[in-house]
Amino acid sequence: MPCCCLQPEIPSLFMFIVFRCGCGRHLYARKDAKTRTCPCGKRILLSKVRVLSQAEDAAAAGEMVRRLQMGSREMTGFKPAHI
Ligand SMILES: [Zn+2]
Repeated sequence: MPCCCLQPEIPSLFMFIVFRCGCGRHLYARKDAKTRTCPCGKRILLSKVRVLSQAEDAAAAGEMVRRLQMGSREMTGFKPAHI
C-alpha cells in the first residue's frame, strides 16, 4: 500500500463522460471539455453534471448513450441519489 499522504491523481483511461441532460437525453462529452450543448438547446456545464458512466473513446461513449437511452424508456421515475 502506498502512503496515503502521497496520492497523485490517477490518470484515467477514460476520456469521455456520459451524463443526462435535464430534457432526458443522454449525452457524452470529452472530459476536458467545459460545456456540452444538448440538441434541446441547453448548454450543460460538465463540472455540474452527474456522471453516469465513463468511456475510453467516442464509440464506446456513443454505445453507452444508446443503451442508457433505451433503458430510460423502461425506467419508472427517478432515483434521487446524493453522493
Ligand atoms: Zn437536453
